[in-house]
Amino acid sequence: RSLTVAEADGDERAVEAALRPRSLDEVVGQQRVRDQLGLVLEAARRRERCPDHVLLSGPPGLGKTTLAMIIAHEMSVPLRLTSGPAITHAGDLAAILSGLNEGDVLFIDEIHRMSRPAEEMLYMAMEDFRVDVVIGKGPGATAIPLEIPPFTLVGATTRAGLLPGPLRDRFGFTAQLEFYDPRDLDTIVHRSADLLGVELTSEGSAQIAFRSRGTPRIANRLLRRVRDYAQVRAGGVVTLAVAEAALELYEVDDLGLDRLDRGVIDVLCRRFGGGPVGVSTLAVAVGEERETVEEVAEPFLVRIGFLARTPRGRVATPAAWAHLGLTPPPGAVG
Ligand code: ADP
Repeated sequence: RSLTVAEADGDERAVEAALRPRSLDEVVGQQRVRDQLGLVLEAARRRERCPDHVLLSGPPGLGKTTLAMIIAHEMSVPLRLTSGPAITHAGDLAAILSGLNEGDVLFIDEIHRMSRPAEEMLYMAMEDFRVDVVIGKGPGATAIPLEIPPFTLVGATTRAGLLPGPLRDRFGFTAQLEFYDPRDLDTIVHRSADLLGVELTSEGSAQIAFRSRGTPRIANRLLRRVRDYAQVRAGGVVTLAVAEAALELYEVDDLGLDRLDRGVIDVLCRRFGGGPVGVSTLAVAVGEERETVEEVAEPFLVRIGFLARTPRGRVATPAAWAHLGLTPPPGAVG
């Protein structure tokens, strides 16, 4: 019996959960963040207090949710999960906050997408562990103060700059997660392969690591796709040749660029002469949401030196032109 799409999706998510490191010691890479966070948690444990609120920022798939889970695990307290888009009214947040127990870790993913009134309520909750719940409307409305037990907020956002200053300032510890280097990703691929029972050679693993866009989630996903290929079309072992053939099939190029990444530089060079062009225009041209282009594709393209953000818009660099096998026109910026 073959899996339905929903089952397959559930399965993928279950696999992702199974691959998550459970303690700070198991986290690969991000040495500085690990050291700093380790200290924050140890100090809190010694003082028998909740750790300060923590803000984690960085592109998707770099380990923000994983770190939130680890914070709760290391403090031996439950983790409550929610996300900015799920909090549309201040009342939604009040309900979550009033359900917390002392010491709980509350994780709010995409915290920059919370509604304004909820954000204001959160300021107060973070600082004074109390909120005012407004009952009724207009002149008859009354604010009822509500005590909240001390808790630790862990907020995640793709870019810290998306948060209003007053919210950012209320986090006692802020960590910016960086893209991983291929060596760390190689370690992650080996670890995941062990957990999944996938046999792979060191060249096969290095190839997956190198093409994972600096992102553990992508490394794990590519490993699973390459494993499929190895099982169906090759002898089951992930060798260099198997990894290369599978990645080509899934349209991941030799630098790890996927269709969206390539689409962005392709449109930028071919249609807009290399820029500068505004990100919204670029997003329309590739048929994607502006946020996706800005928060998923761009950070990696900037990191590998293919794209530059200038005050006048996005610009393709000579390396991007070369990757597409094109020569920049004489007047091209970049
Ligand atoms: P985010 O919340 O930033 O989108 P996640 O925490 O969900 O990212 O991480 C995505 C996947 O990548 C997880 O399933 C986890 O297995 C893996 N992962 C992330 N960071 C690490 C790391 N430092 N070491 C090992 N695996 C990691």
